[in-house]
Amino acid sequence: MGVAKIKELEHRLFRDDEFWKKIPGWAAVDRETFREHTWQLRNSIRKFDQVKSVLGKLATPELMSDIEAGLKRTPMNIRITPYIFSLINWEDPWNDPLRKQFLPMGSQFLDDHPMHQADSLSEDEDSPVKLLTHRYPDKVLFLPTTICPVYCSYCTRSRIIGGSTESVAKDSYGANKKYWDDVFDYLRTQPKVEDVVISGGDSYMLTPDQLEYIGMELLKIPHIRRIRYATKGIAIFPQKIITDGEWMMALSKVHQFGKSYGKQVVIHTHFSSPLEITKWSQRAMERLFHEGITVRNQAVLQVGVNDSVEVMIQLTRQLSFLNIQPYYVYMHDMVPGCEHFRTTLREAIELEKAVRGTTAGFNTPTFVCDLPGGGGKRHVASYEYYHEEYGISVWKAPYVKPDQTFLYFDPIHKLAPEIQKRWHDESERNKMIEEAKSFVKS
Ligand SMILES: *Cc1c(COP(=O)(O)O)cnc(C)c1O
Ligand code: SF4
Repeated sequence: MGVAKIKELEHRLFRDDEFWKKIPGWAAVDRETFREHTWQLRNSIRKFDQVKSVLGKLATPELMSDIEAGLKRTPMNIRITPYIFSLINWEDPWNDPLRKQFLPMGSQFLDDHPMHQADSLSEDEDSPVKLLTHRYPDKVLFLPTTICPVYCSYCTRSRIIGGSTESVAKDSYGANKKYWDDVFDYLRTQPKVEDVVISGGDSYMLTPDQLEYIGMELLKIPHIRRIRYATKGIAIFPQKIITDGEWMMALSKVHQFGKSYGKQVVIHTHFSSPLEITKWSQRAMERLFHEGITVRNQAVLQVGVNDSVEVMIQLTRQLSFLNIQPYYVYMHDMVPGCEHFRTTLREAIELEKAVRGTTAGFNTPTFVCDLPGGGGKRHVASYEYYHEEYGISVWKAPYVKPDQTFLYFDPIHKLAPEIQKRWHDESERNKMIEEAKSFVKS
């Protein structure tokens, strides 16, 4: 077999070494212990001092001062499972895609784009009742919790998720049942709604009782046909699927109940890098597949994480191999503290072109831009006009909000120096925006 052929099959090999033993603090942890979801939760890294103590001699002063600066600036708290923490390449943490996602460093930040917004997708505006966004006629987004098993530095809901930080005060509500019944009452009055996304926060952090309560209450509403539990869990904490019997039982119960009513109960997860995928992911997916639970993936396109053709194809192939359907790749939302992660629209379009054709159509992710201002998700190539030089794209959402025009902006640091200068001048900035908009009939 030629070398090229072997490379084609690389995506089927999943690491199963004891990689956590390279972390000085966990050198003595055996496989049985590492496998326990309770151990993973208890040993998750939540504070600067824990990073330092578990890294031991790997915690160089240069590294630690960069992390300290990062924690001052980020809108998100840190919370990293030992699984993910030990998959980081600590020989070169600066360039590691996992470190980039979960452990912010001061040296990486860029100034926010002038058009950024804390609630970039206007989820709060389209909210008829607390914890619910109802933007599309037949589907809704329900946020029953504000906690997650890991906190992503780039979270699109950094305004509420994960508790206050040095830079953002938050109105987090944990997993607060008090408001849930109001959501169910509202949904009972909305016969058009067939589809509920249960997100947050992360469904992994719902207790088995909560998971079951929410699932059952929703499935009992006659017009609701489909529910999806959104969780990043499979990507960052597969041990829970393998060893948390009670949680799996609750999920399985809701799934079976749905099935008996002819309704879909699925999981949407969030892998962004092939480095998150190991034999542990495969074991977790074998269990879910055996239960008959469909799993789809929503990745976020990020510089230095997955913005290359090679990585995106590898991610797509590996997920497909594990029976996870690559569903979406999102362009980065324009939320605070994320400018260094964002790509241009052109980069997203080129990646989509490169990925399409590499595997089955149903395993080919759709690259979408969730429009700032609440226009909803649009295919990246479906803009009305794209002024590449200015980094401004103009969009319509004919079904969702027919009378409005929406704008997405490329990161300024990727534009030509003279255009960057114009972006820093408010009146020049407005001129560029008006010019781009003038190409589209309102
Ligand atoms: C993403 C989203 C949904 C679900 O959209 P799909 O394209 O069906 O995955 C529903 N409501 C809101 C507000 C959303 O942002
Ligand atoms: S898992 Fe989702 S909700 Fe939680 S921090 Fe990450 S992106 Fe935000």
